[in-house]
Amino acid sequence: MAYVVKKIINKKPYYYLKQSKRIGTKVISKNIAYFGKKKPTKKDIDEKLKNVVPKKPHVVVPNIDQQVVPNSPAKEKPYKPEEKTKVMLNINDMAIFCKKKGFVFQNSEIYGGFSGFFDYGPLGVELKNNIKKEFWKTFVHQREDIVGIDGTIVTHPTVWKASGHVDSFTDYIYQCKDCKIIIKGDDDKGLKCPKCDKDMENQGKFNLMFETQVGPAKGSISYLRPETAQVIFTNYKLVQETARKKLPFGIAQNGKAFRNEISPRDFLFRSREFEQFEIEFFTHPEKINDCPYFKEVENAQIQILTQKNQEKKEDRTMMTIKSLVENKITTQWHAYWLANFYKFFLDLGIKKENLRLREHLKDELAHYASACFDIEYKFPFGWKEIHGNADRGQFDLKQHIEHSKTNLEYFDEETKEKIIPYVASEPSQGIDRAFLTFIFDAYNDDKDRGNIVLNLHPKLAPIKVGIFPLVNKLEKEAKAIFNDLKKDFNCIYDRSGSIGRRYARADETAIPYCITFDFDSLKDKKVTVRDRDTTKQTRVNIKDLKDTINKLLNKGKLFK
Ligand SMILES: [Zn+2]
Repeated sequence: MAYVVKKIINKKPYYYLKQSKRIGTKVISKNIAYFGKKKPTKKDIDEKLKNVVPKKPHVVVPNIDQQVVPNSPAKEKPYKPEEKTKVMLNINDMAIFCKKKGFVFQNSEIYGGFSGFFDYGPLGVELKNNIKKEFWKTFVHQREDIVGIDGTIVTHPTVWKASGHVDSFTDYIYQCKDCKIIIKGDDDKGLKCPKCDKDMENQGKFNLMFETQVGPAKGSISYLRPETAQVIFTNYKLVQETARKKLPFGIAQNGKAFRNEISPRDFLFRSREFEQFEIEFFTHPEKINDCPYFKEVENAQIQILTQKNQEKKEDRTMMTIKSLVENKITTQWHAYWLANFYKFFLDLGIKKENLRLREHLKDELAHYASACFDIEYKFPFGWKEIHGNADRGQFDLKQHIEHSKTNLEYFDEETKEKIIPYVASEPSQGIDRAFLTFIFDAYNDDKDRGNIVLNLHPKLAPIKVGIFPLVNKLEKEAKAIFNDLKKDFNCIYDRSGSIGRRYARADETAIPYCITFDFDSLKDKKVTVRDRDTTKQTRVNIKDLKDTINKLLNKGKLFK
């Protein structure tokens, strides 16, 4: 059956033609045509219906250079792909899905969008906070050798001189003589415009740090931090002394960082404002191969693309963490931290075939690093870095000693010598990239159910429990359960539509457990708890709900 729907977007009406179909016990409706702002006549509708042909399977087109601005309602496609088999979304479709469900919005959309900036919506902020919480819990609270700080975004400008960012954090920019588009490139001549093939003019170096004036005096310039790491280095001595830490130990920080990207692209991948979780792990410079926990990870198998693989254009190989060290690809401490972050993603449900480690090529290394690896995720548009992990050596502390004229040496009680600690590993985790990794990996267009299921790990799910009265008559009892559970879990109460429709909405927003209060509940004081991933249902005593949900969230799967 086809019918016309009016949607009000930014106070303007838009008309769509929808069609509903019965599949099994479910009624599924989808947009089949778009009319624009004019109310369609019977003739318009007949015309569109004639043109509606079954859609071809959705093809994933790598669309990596297009800036995503999903802000025009007229251009939007329905986010639900039409294909029969499971196909991952491309990045633009994911941006549309994220917008429709309230995960991520283009910043300043009502003004036409602001390139390279994104806002997290009601569900997005919950998922993002849960991701940050898991990093903090795993790498700070559960470890005796790491403590956290929360430093500022604007800091003393000399910090950025010392770190090398003022001089080296630059890209060459080129402008087309004809169409004036600007791109970044290496310092080479003969570059042609990608749009009109005319010569490009070298405009010199462009620093990627955002400048800002501090106070009213002209010329007092500082920068928004391009990484959270430096505030860790400048506080290193204070943290070591006040937290009474002995080498080896680490300092973690989570916070915003800013890079004035010349061409922001790929949705959350290359944005101008983003969030990082970073650790600087300090060791004695002669003990970078003395990791007492190495045994815990040495036999872990990982997919890896080494420098050698890349030079020989070979495919990735499987290696143990131990062989990374035995083959002198990197040190024990570095390999240990790589393994732990790799494991973090696996533990939270990322499919192992979608993860790999990639060693940086010599000419890719940043000015401060002597070795670096990325953890990459296999997105529909290719393998992309989601985590960088460098051996920064003594570079940063030496630079800050020189520029600040402050003694940052560490007295080693064992050897009675003064040393400059060595950063054997700097795990640098993009939070927004982790967000995309989890949401892409969880996205499942379930044809049997006829709706999308976001199979996020329960620990990451934005909303943990949905509570439904079977009919509105049972609202009082269902609401009482909601009011009790919301003290402990992020819950949602939903009374609109059929139970099937409410389950579908819950699936699409990753709610792992749904509770239905029905007529039997009045008698037996039990409710039905439904599991998102299996759709299995079980009856649970109302008085045991809190315990049951707690167990489910922490251990997963009670429904076998
Ligand atoms: Zn051009």
